[in-house]
Order: sequence, then structure tokens, then C-alpha cells
Amino acid sequence: MENFINNKQINTLLEDAKSVSSEDIRAIIAKAKTCVGLSLEEVAALLQFDDDSLLEELYDCANHIKNTIYGDRIVMFAPLYVSNYCVNGCTYCGYKHSNKIPRRRLTDAELAKEALQIEAMGHKRIALEAGEDPINCDIDYVLHAMDVIYKTKSDNNGAIRRINVNVAATTVENYERLKAADIGTYILFQETYHLDTYKKYHPNGPKSNFTYHLTAMDRAMEGGIDDVGVGALFGLYDYKFEALGLMLHKEHLEEKYGVGPHTISVPRIKKAENVEVEEYPHAVSDCEFKRLVATIRLAVPYTGIILSTRESAEFRETMIDIGISQLSAGSKTDVGGYTDEEKMASQFELADERPQHQVIESLLKLGRLPSFCTACYRAGRTGDRFMQVAKSGQIHNLCQPNSLLTLKEYIEDYADPELKALGEATIKEHIDKIPSPKMRENTIDRLQKIEDGERDLFF
Ligand code: SF4
Repeated sequence: MENFINNKQINTLLEDAKSVSSEDIRAIIAKAKTCVGLSLEEVAALLQFDDDSLLEELYDCANHIKNTIYGDRIVMFAPLYVSNYCVNGCTYCGYKHSNKIPRRRLTDAELAKEALQIEAMGHKRIALEAGEDPINCDIDYVLHAMDVIYKTKSDNNGAIRRINVNVAATTVENYERLKAADIGTYILFQETYHLDTYKKYHPNGPKSNFTYHLTAMDRAMEGGIDDVGVGALFGLYDYKFEALGLMLHKEHLEEKYGVGPHTISVPRIKKAENVEVEEYPHAVSDCEFKRLVATIRLAVPYTGIILSTRESAEFRETMIDIGISQLSAGSKTDVGGYTDEEKMASQFELADERPQHQVIESLLKLGRLPSFCTACYRAGRTGDRFMQVAKSGQIHNLCQPNSLLTLKEYIEDYADPELKALGEATIKEHIDKIPSPKMRENTIDRLQKIEDGERDLFF
């Protein structure tokens, strides 16, 4: 498989972009406002201009695109760490092999307990996380864990409805098995698209193979998974280079498989066991990070952008205006973290440790619409089928109703009276934002059915 990341091409794009005028930047922003996406040259230009007065225009445009495509919706999820065994030596990770920390993987009973606890927070979507270990956490274990989680039901028949999976790069055959096991999104971060940097921070273990890691999404697509999530770990190398690496990855997948990534994650490096952020010379400041996320929003308007609890509560809320569309909440990044009294080592430190209900309350007070929707993947709207729905403008007639139905479920089953009142007011306000009168009517009907006790209704 060819390496589709070309350092020279990225460096040339960044160099050439230095001469782009402020007038041209404004023209790029005006184009982006129509939600058509941007070329590599245009992305490079937005990363390079140094006229600070243009930054607000960039952010306004990102906010405009976010509102046009996603409205007030914010998709919610939680990570579930099932195993911290790892044979790799990724220097920035608390689970690296050289760290002498207690290692374990969850038993069936523990998987069910963790799933129930996450469900009791109101989550319906998880990201299953595991280190790479072909003996202690092989694909059979991952598939089995998915099966246990999907089959776990709470007393009121609540369940995790979508399992996104973040496990090591693997074979086409294993991706076929993940697909058959009802994977939601297959998530894998490239960490860095810069080869020499990749080698430096991945000194040993199977993950040290840059090309095998880079081509994982190709094998996932060949294995039938058309819903993939990419990302880079910001801080390992120049964020501008990584942003263009992500764009090249997206273009490669679109050209070869007809569909780009469903999501892009933007984690910044954080402190962990034997990981000091100061040792990484490419730390991304808050200001640079905002610019990065806004640029991605303009470049790929229909791709979800995910921000985790690595970032502080306050910062996460400001980033929603810049284009973030998915948030994790109430997260634990240690194995058994949701239910064990004794805390194990975390993969990295969290900055937003608010419980889930506080995150929801805060989003509602900001006029946002937290969504627990898992409808698309369950209705077969993945890959290019999802993109067709999104680009045809039908997203508001599907996603808006579905997010209202899932928020209704949330407030009925998990909220205290105060939060419930806040949720009801939000639902009332957002019903009018469903464009189709027919869908509005159907949604009102289903909201009543949920109030009467029905669950898991979606379009
Ligand atoms: S990033 Fe993943 S593969 Fe690397 S050490 Fe951590 S758990 Fe292992």
C-alpha cells in the first residue's frame, strides 16, 4: 500500500500559503461559508495568515457552518477502557509497555457492570478503548466484550446502543469481524503524520510501523467498515503539518473508497504516568488550537469534530462555537474506572471531571441540545449514505428530531426535576427548528409516546 502522506507536498503547501493576501483569505472564508469545503491550498492559507484581525472572521465562519449543519446539537458519548495491557512504547501514553503499572482486562461481569454504570449516566454511545496486546487483549476478546456490552440491559431496558471501537491497527479479516459484530465507528488516531516524529515517539512494538498504522483505515474500508474516525495527537509535531496530514488522509479515503472520515478527533497531549508535556516541543496553545479546529470546520463541514475531557470545561464550551460537534462527558480513562473504588492508572489526565449530568445541565443552559442519538448507524445510514443525507440538507429533518427524542428519554429516565424542567424547555424551543411540518408532527407524536413509556424511538 502506498504512503499517501508526502512531507514535501505538505511543506510546499505551507510555504506557498505564506504569501496569500488578506483579501484572498477573506475570499476563502466566504467560499467556506457556503459549506462546500476547502482545497489543500486553502486549508494551508487559513493556517498561515498572520493578520490577527482575520481570526474573528474565521471563528465566525466556523460558527456559521456549525449552526447551519449541526444546529445546536452536540452528540454525547463516553469512553470505556476494557484493557490496559499494551506491548507498545508510545512515549506520550500512560499505558506504554515500559510503565510498571497494574495491568488487567475486564471480565464479563466487570464489562456488564461498567456498561450499566455508563448507561445509568444516560449515555447510549461508547468508545471502546484498549491497548494493543495480541495475547492479553486479542480481537476475540474485543469482539466478546462488544457482545457482552450490547447484551447488557438495565432494569428499565436501557442499553448501550452504539459501540465505537478504538483498537490497534489490524488486518482486513479482523475488520470484517468487527463489522459483523456491529461496530459503530472504527476510530484510530495517526498520532502524527510526520514520519520521523512518528518513529521518535513510537520506538518499539507493532505500532512503530508507520505505514501499517497509516493504512489501517484502508484495511477497515476493505473489511466493510465505511464509518471511520481519524485524529492526530496535537503536540507531537507542528499542528499545521498535522492538519494537512489529516486533510490528505481524508482525500485519500474519498478518492479510493468514495467516503472520507465520519469524525476527526483533536486530542492535545496531556500529562500521564511518566509523561511530561514539557518534553514535547510542539505544544499547541489555546489560541492555535482554536484556529486549528475552526480551520478543520471550514475544510470539512460535514465531518464531526470530537473534543474529549482532556480539555477543561470552560474551554470545551468555547470550542463548541468554533465547530466541535461531539463531546465525551463523565469520562474515566482507567480500566474499571466507572465502578471500581480503587483507581487504576489513567491513560492520561483529564481536565473536565464534571459528572455527566453537570455537563448536560451546562449545555442546556447554553442553549445547546445534547443528543444521545445512535439512529444513523442502526438505520444503515453510514459512509456515503450518511453523507448524502447530510449534504442534501435532510440532516435537520432527521438529526434534530432524533436528538429531541433521545433528550426526552434522557430527562425521563436520568434527570432530577430541575434538569428535567430545563430539558423540557429546550425540547419545546427546538421542536420549531425542525423544517418539515410532517416531521415536526411525527416528532411531537413520538415525544408523547416516550412520555407514555415507549423507548428507543428514532427516524
Ligand atoms: S497509545 Fe495505545 S498503543 Fe500506544 S502505548 Fe498507549 S495504549 Fe499502547
